[in-house]
Amino acid sequence: MTLFQKIVAREIPAKIISEDEDVIVFHDINPQAPIHVLLVPKKPIPRLAEATAEDGIVLAKLLLKAQETAKALGISQTGFRVVINSGRNGGETVPHLHVHLLGGRPLTWPPG
Ligand code: 5GP
Repeated sequence: MTLFQKIVAREIPAKIISEDEDVIVFHDINPQAPIHVLLVPKKPIPRLAEATAEDGIVLAKLLLKAQETAKALGISQTGFRVVINSGRNGGETVPHLHVHLLGGRPLTWPPG
């Protein structure tokens, strides 16, 4: 089981915001902004580089869920960022595809 599958199974605690049959949304344990949420497909796709056309619907759901969560957390109007880190150079540390939703302060660009 991946770390995030253990959160889905409630084997590891997390501050869960929402959950449906395909996606779980919870606060990042080490927030990089006032709002830092992870959106995770229940299917353990290792990383974006390994997603397939079969995963298309869940990938779309992740973005729409990020939009919905941004609205629910009050950062839709001020703005937010979604990030997917894929692989070593991408900064991935948990090998289970996830979308970061960050907001609540101005974010700089480019990233490090
Ligand atoms: P990555 O670096 O793979 O893109 O993102 C992994 C994220 O998972 C990091 O932002 C990290 O803080 C978060 N994370 C790692 N372990 C846990 C955990 O046990 N609980 C929660 N809520 N977040 C975690």
